[in-house]
Amino acid sequence: MIRPLLAANWKMNKTRREADQFCDDLLTALSEKQLRHVMIAPQFPLLQNLCERIGSRFPVAAQNCHYESGGAFTAEVSPDLLLEIGIQWVIIGHSERRHLFGESQELVARRLSGALAKGMNVIYCIGEKLDEREEGKTFQVLDAQIAVLSDLGEGLDRTVLAYEPVWAIGTGKVAGTEQIGEVHGYLRSRFPTPPLLYGGSVKPENIDSIASLENVDGALIGGAGLDVKTFSAIVNRALEIKGV
Ligand code: PEP
Repeated sequence: MIRPLLAANWKMNKTRREADQFCDDLLTALSEKQLRHVMIAPQFPLLQNLCERIGSRFPVAAQNCHYESGGAFTAEVSPDLLLEIGIQWVIIGHSERRHLFGESQELVARRLSGALAKGMNVIYCIGEKLDEREEGKTFQVLDAQIAVLSDLGEGLDRTVLAYEPVWAIGTGKVAGTEQIGEVHGYLRSRFPTPPLLYGGSVKPENIDSIASLENVDGALIGGAGLDVKTFSAIVNRALEIKGV
C-alpha cells in the first residue's frame, strides 16, 4: 500500500493536451522517490493514454467503476476493462457521486466490494454533510459508511480510506485539525491498517497542519491538484513532514 499518498482527483477537468502537459511537468517537478507517493485520477478517456505516457511511474486512477464485469449498464465502466488497460486504482464513493448523482450507500458498497473482488485497489471516500455534523450525527454517518469495511476480508489490504467532510469539498473551508484528528483517530481505532487520507480544500497553505497529524497518511486533493506547481508544492511539504 502506498503511504503516504497524495492523490489528485481531476473530476471533469482537463483536455487531453492539458493532461499530457501536467504529467510531463510532474515527472520533471518531482523526484523518482516522490513520484512513488502520488496518484492522479483523470476522466475515463484519458486513463490509458496517461498510463502509457508516464510509463507507470505512478498510478493513474479511475474516478468510479461498476461492480460487474460487463452487461447492460449504460454509461458505466467495468473494472475488468480498467485492469485490461493497465488501471489498477479506482476512487469509490466520492461525495459528488453520492450527493450530486444520488449513489446510495448500498450502491457504493457494491462498487467497493466488486472492484476489490476484481483485484483493484480502491480509495474509498466517506464523509458527513454540514447538517449532519451540526446535528451531531457525524459518527453515525461515518459508521454507516464504514460498515462495509468489516466484510472486505483481504480486500481491506487494498483499500485506502479518504475522510472528506462534504462541507469542506471545493468550498475553501478546511476542517479544523481537531475535527480531522478526532475522525482519523476514530477511523484508525476501528481499522488500523488502511492508509487514511484527508480531503477537503487541501492547499499548500494548509498542508503542513494537516500532514502533521499523526493519523493522516496523505490527502485526496481536488482543485489544488489541477495545477502542477500547486500540487507538487503540497506533495513536497507532505512528504517532508512524513519523513520521505
Ligand atoms: C475532492 O474532490 O475530493 C476534493 C477534496 O476537492 P477539493 O480539494 O477541491 O476540496
